[in-house]
Amino acid sequence: MHDTADSRELSEFPLEELAACHECDLLMRRPHLGDGERAECPRCGYELFSYRHSVVTRSLALVLAALLFYVPANFLPIMQLNLLGQTTQDTVWSGVLALYHSGMGGVAVLVFLCSMGIPLLKLLCQLFVLLSIRLDIGRSYGLLFYRIYQHLREWGMLEVYLMSTLVAIVKLVDLAEVNLGIGLACFVGLLLTQIWLEVTMSPQQIWEALAGKEDSLARN
Ligand SMILES: [Zn+2]
Repeated sequence: MHDTADSRELSEFPLEELAACHECDLLMRRPHLGDGERAECPRCGYELFSYRHSVVTRSLALVLAALLFYVPANFLPIMQLNLLGQTTQDTVWSGVLALYHSGMGGVAVLVFLCSMGIPLLKLLCQLFVLLSIRLDIGRSYGLLFYRIYQHLREWGMLEVYLMSTLVAIVKLVDLAEVNLGIGLACFVGLLLTQIWLEVTMSPQQIWEALAGKEDSLARN
């Protein structure tokens, strides 16, 4: 943790050297951090900034891994149900279609958006942002896509979907023979990769790299 206190008055610093805590609005001097260091708010303890080594390269690897998990996670069977001699295989996509065909079009659209559409859009936005930094092209579009990603973040609900699937499996075990499918493993893989990606892709470093700051680019 870095001590952000300074003997000078904050008003003596130019605006770009100041930062406000996202949680408690405390105004302070922006800390200068080295690789692997992080700064916490001295008042509430919120993590203000963190600088990670090779953030773009590592994030790109994680985005590509998540995209590889995406198709099997959504289109391979999550579970196989065997009830009274009848066998069904359920995928995320077949679940959306089943909701739609049973007259719950609104719920089907919501489930599609939160479990398939928005997670894919988030990954594509992240991929575009990282490529625009890595290849040094289309930075202005990179800024736009990173803003879109920030708005989409709350709407991808893979963890909610996974929890509901686990509850369904526990409930169904008493009624029918349930076999877990490869799709479930890929879904868990996708979820874990996305969480890892969010932790790795430090927003401060990405914004600075998109804005073309020399020191942040050198570290990526
Ligand atoms: Zn704070």
